[in-house]
Amino acid sequence: EAFRQIEEKEAKFHCYISLDKERALKRAEQVQAAIDAGELAGPLAGVPIAVKDNICTKDVKTTCASRILSNFVPSYSAEAVVRLERAGAIILGKTNMDEFAMGSTTETSAFGVTGNPWNPGHVPGGSSGGSAAAVAAGECFAALGSDTGGSIRQPAGFCGVVGMKPTYGAVSRYGLVAYGSSLDQIGPLCRDVADCAAILEVIAGHDSKDSTSVDFAAAGEKTDFTSALKDDVSGMRIGIPRDYFGEGLHPEVRKAVLEAAELLKDKGAEVEEFDLPLVEYAIPAYYTIASAEASSNLERFDGIKYGYRASEYEGLHQMYKRTRSEGFGPEVKRRIMLGSFVLSSGYYDAYYLKALRVKALIKKAFDEAFARYDCLLGPVAPTTAPGLGESLTDPIRMYLGDIYTISANLAGLPGICLPCGLDSRGLPIGLQLVGDCFQEKKLIQAAFSYE
Ligand code: GLN
Repeated sequence: EAFRQIEEKEAKFHCYISLDKERALKRAEQVQAAIDAGELAGPLAGVPIAVKDNICTKDVKTTCASRILSNFVPSYSAEAVVRLERAGAIILGKTNMDEFAMGSTTETSAFGVTGNPWNPGHVPGGSSGGSAAAVAAGECFAALGSDTGGSIRQPAGFCGVVGMKPTYGAVSRYGLVAYGSSLDQIGPLCRDVADCAAILEVIAGHDSKDSTSVDFAAAGEKTDFTSALKDDVSGMRIGIPRDYFGEGLHPEVRKAVLEAAELLKDKGAEVEEFDLPLVEYAIPAYYTIASAEASSNLERFDGIKYGYRASEYEGLHQMYKRTRSEGFGPEVKRRIMLGSFVLSSGYYDAYYLKALRVKALIKKAFDEAFARYDCLLGPVAPTTAPGLGESLTDPIRMYLGDIYTISANLAGLPGICLPCGLDSRGLPIGLQLVGDCFQEKKLIQAAFSYE
């Protein structure tokens, strides 16, 4: 059925970079045999899942939507993929994204744009736009994405699906091509909250191959996320950051999000507005830190170890230069230049170190908020999905659209985005809930109760 949907809709939306029907069908037969033999059970057995193309899949091309990795076939799978397959999931293919996950519209991909299934003249969001669109179009049951500054939550919001960024360290990053290593997290994009909880339950938990992955038990928590699927918010304390409803927020988005807050209040939650400081510093701090880490992480693409190499050059230096000039797109180059600049001597203290201090202060502001609230509620983005091409000419405007999502990455917090209505153009509006570290169960419970 997933392939029937893909065949019918892929030409219109272009959610995938690579698809391997034969491989998936063969795997489906094996999984079915294991189910019949009673060796495999559980909610993900036989479920067709798509994977963002910056998450490594053994023997299946993983391009990061970049020319520089256009022929890269990993020899191993990411831990999250291994865990999904162990649970019986069938990987259908690899989804389109912004190049190296840098962007908010999926338009910086080297392999074409993806259409929003609600209206293909609009972007699906990004950078996990292919994953969000594939779920929304029914071209897979669920998908994996990655979120460095909102790349799971924002496309989920634009495509009217549910997307969750777990706490930093909750899911192993082993096999995720690094963008901003201190911010990156893998997470699910699904049709509903229950599916999200089921996938998270499979992929979360300590992995010795990622030293930043966390043992939930050691943090006094369990990964039994599906146990939180309870329709009950009575007594739950929900904070609404006033600063998330200021200038720049589209009135239709504001209205839908505040109505969602009212609904939770009617169901027994204690909803209250409060002041979250430092919101205006989050964007500069995020783009400084993310670009700095990206400039370092992307050093490895030099035309030697793997990936694309320029065909004509004289000497090593020209080979590096041509390979990287031809291999990376403009947005990635912009980030590498910005990152190298803020890390260079003479500017390090003024930019990079200052951004790290802002990050620490933002974390402190959230700690204070979570002393009073179980979760925070707000919009996922200032607007609904922009039209194709609208964001490409003005990168700063695109960066500003990340205002509500990036703080959760800077502070390592979990966040979930779910649909809360349509705007007057018929495009989905996303509601975001953010929780304290390792409190994804509270988020799941609140989101499930709203849904
Ligand atoms: N739009 C943000 C950026 O371009 C977030 C991307 C992401 O989360 N991967 O950096």
